[in-house]
Amino acid sequence: MFDRASVVTPGGVNSPVRAFRAVGGTPRFMVSGTGPYLTDADGREYVDLVCSWGPMILGHSHPEVIAAVQEAVSRGTSFGTPGEGEVALAEEIVARIEPVEQVRLVSSGTEATMSAIRLARGFTGRAKVVKFAGCYHGHVDALLAAAGSGVATFGLPDTPGVTGATAGDTVVLPYNDLDAVRAAFAAHPGEIACVITEASPGNMGVVPPADGFNAGLKELCAANGALYISDEVMTGFRTSKAGWYGVDGVRPDLMTFGKVMGGGFPAAAFGGRGDVMAHLAPAGPVYQAGTLSGNPVATAAGLAQLRLLDDTAYARIDAVSAELRSLVGDALTKEGVAHIVSAASNMFSVFFTDEPVRDYEDAKKQDVFRFTAFFHAMLERGVYLPPSAFESWFVSTAHDERAVERIAAALPAAARAAAEATA
Ligand code: PLP
Repeated sequence: MFDRASVVTPGGVNSPVRAFRAVGGTPRFMVSGTGPYLTDADGREYVDLVCSWGPMILGHSHPEVIAAVQEAVSRGTSFGTPGEGEVALAEEIVARIEPVEQVRLVSSGTEATMSAIRLARGFTGRAKVVKFAGCYHGHVDALLAAAGSGVATFGLPDTPGVTGATAGDTVVLPYNDLDAVRAAFAAHPGEIACVITEASPGNMGVVPPADGFNAGLKELCAANGALYISDEVMTGFRTSKAGWYGVDGVRPDLMTFGKVMGGGFPAAAFGGRGDVMAHLAPAGPVYQAGTLSGNPVATAAGLAQLRLLDDTAYARIDAVSAELRSLVGDALTKEGVAHIVSAASNMFSVFFTDEPVRDYEDAKKQDVFRFTAFFHAMLERGVYLPPSAFESWFVSTAHDERAVERIAAALPAAARAAAEATA
């Protein structure tokens, strides 16, 4: 299948990190998913710790989500008109996340961040955008400078095709460094439209904000007439009922969402302050649109998923995450492998280093070759990890005792493989 795919698709994949280039080997082609398990085209079953890179927070093929999708599909797949499903999904988002007074639905996280920075520029009349090295906000041209995720995996400092003019208005700063943000505002007075940050980064591995970092960003933005944009595409509806906002309570001007809110379908959103959102067409002059925005099937899936995500569900996900973190940490310690299990709520990843990781430069110093050995040993034993050392691991409500036992059984050999790996 990969050979076939490589003939008709660049690199054989539709999103780079799926190609396994960071870890080597052949990507698995998945044919079905049930609960915490994925089954590949050769009939092998894996415990899934990627969860489609975040969205599948209830596990695969959750019966109530599937039923909602089937019901929606039976009425048609797209109308290109307003519909009740999109209103209900927007109401659910607004009800959960207090700083979101209004929300606009789009089809991908990339579209959400692209639209949010356009709106911030339109609202403030300013051009510059501050972002942090190692934070990934989708493949928006202006935000592909020093991005994490796949860009980190391939070590590209930048990407061809993004012009100097586009990237020239992007100011890239080290993460967790408020002095750098202060200096940027001082160097560009009246020019910075917004600061965009992952609410808690998961695209350079999991690197949570230091105490007071997000609050400091918010303060500096407010003091300098810029908007504070919290990208919750990954953390939204995952790290708590109200995402990372529910964890740190720092009130953004704009927020972006995706992944979990689509229930495995292409649905994403951006929203926030009513006076800012009022600048969006047709209410205001900043243009933004989408043929499939608010798609009835996607919104039905997202709404069904969000309605199932109550306090009990989050308690379950947090508990499974804590259990796995301790199992992974114990296995690596037993084999004498230097590591840090880095967590932000129920998101976590492992850095193969014993130096603290506060930003992208620190993250890059880890022994990536140990992750590679660890990854393949887990894969051989039926555990599917993200195929890169710079990605978060994700769990779901469906990760039950049996799934955890299977992971626990794979860990000793994987830890040994990491210990024995050479650069
Ligand atoms: N923002 C963050 C924080 C993300 O993690 C991602 C994707 O991983 C995006 C934006 C882009 O979302 P999408 O892949 O849906 O375009």
